[in-house]
Amino acid sequence: MDFELAEEHRMLGDLVTRFVDDELMPLESAVLQREARGGALGLARPEHERLDEVSKSLGLWGLDAPEDVGGANLPNVAMVGVNEALGRTITPYTLPPDSPNLRMLQATVTDRQREAYLAPYVRGETISAIGISEPGAGADPSGMTTWAMRDGDDWVINGRKIWISRAAEADFTILMAVTDKDKGAHGGISAFLVDKDAPGFHVVRPIPMVGGAVTYEVLLEDCRVPGWKLLGTEGQGFAPMQLRLGTRRLEMAAWSVGMAQRALDMICDYAPQRVTFGHPLSERQTIQGWVADAATEIHAARLMTYDCAWKLDQGREARVEISMIKAFATEMAWRVVDHAMQAFGAMGMTKELPLQLMAAKLRAMRIYDGPTEVHRWVVARNLLGSKR
Ligand SMILES: Cc1cc2nc3c(=O)[nH]c(=O)nc-3n(C[C@H](O)[C@H](O)[C@H](O)COP(=O)(O)OP(=O)(O)OC[C@H]3O[C@@H](n4cnc5c(N)ncnc54)[C@H](O)[C@@H]3O)c2cc1C
Repeated sequence: MDFELAEEHRMLGDLVTRFVDDELMPLESAVLQREARGGALGLARPEHERLDEVSKSLGLWGLDAPEDVGGANLPNVAMVGVNEALGRTITPYTLPPDSPNLRMLQATVTDRQREAYLAPYVRGETISAIGISEPGAGADPSGMTTWAMRDGDDWVINGRKIWISRAAEADFTILMAVTDKDKGAHGGISAFLVDKDAPGFHVVRPIPMVGGAVTYEVLLEDCRVPGWKLLGTEGQGFAPMQLRLGTRRLEMAAWSVGMAQRALDMICDYAPQRVTFGHPLSERQTIQGWVADAATEIHAARLMTYDCAWKLDQGREARVEISMIKAFATEMAWRVVDHAMQAFGAMGMTKELPLQLMAAKLRAMRIYDGPTEVHRWVVARNLLGSKR
């Protein structure tokens, strides 16, 4: 068993770490100040443009995109280091293109869709969203009721989606809808490429979320989509959607490792300096316990994440491992960040440190892309089988 990363993947991780340290970390105080004043968590346009320029010049675009549309086709194990590095900062920047929808498109596009959607997406020219959740179906997407029916060459979609990130900004949304009510998740759910300006696609309202994030409610009212924008095979949308969700869950585990590592580094810098009752905090057994547990659990989560990524790269089934890392890494990081906030005392409660934003992000991460309880249920079901 070889635990060493390939040299080129290690170098890529180092390069992204430098990009984070040199370009993203210096923006944190501006991001924190804007959020503290009640603004959304975001970057100003010139900041974003500069980051795009620098990251592009460093060759950090399209890292895991297919080569035939200009990507570097890097495996999942290479992306773990990239996402761990990005997870260390609260500056909200994603190296284009965002991987989950990329993987879904990659698995499903026709030649025409490749040119019209995948290629511009890889070039960083478009933004996408994913529309799965509905008011009555979140953790269990098989309960969705938004439905699509054929009308001549077109599809007509009706229903309501909620909690959709980027729905208002996205050039297109990958929208999941029922195409056969009897079959449901087993051959009756399809994916559609719905453009921002598609007739009947209405972004009804923004919903402010914890941590400065925003999601949207979307109404589909006789939304007309040309036939060629069906993504993948009719009725077979669930499997590529799971591939997409798995990609995000792997990313989230790596982000969590990055966040937890940052929080641990902050405790280790601060605890020896802060003296209470005549002794530095670093001499207190409770703080030492937090440090030791954090280091141990970060190590475990990192190894589990690499193991899962490696299995996916080998084409192995890793559904249970994906659930394990999504639940374990997000919950682990939540605990570590909470301990860091506690160790910093009142300073940990301020909006001047990144810890509160990390905590807020992790709070949401314990829900989206499957709540912790559902992932634990997946793991248990796998072990207990019919005895569940
Ligand atoms: C910040 C954010 C961004 C999001 N972005 C998107 C997006 O871009 N696109 C999209 O489609 N959706 C998005 N979502 C929605 C997200 O994926 C759902 O919220 C999530 O899947 C949970 O669904 P729900 O909120 O309906 O919770 P419910 O399904 O109502 O579940 C509520 C709670 O019940 C418990 N529970 C449910 N099932 C079980 C079970 N089997 N065993 C034990 N406990 C259980 C869990 O504790 C769970 O948290 C986003 C959500 C957030 C918070």
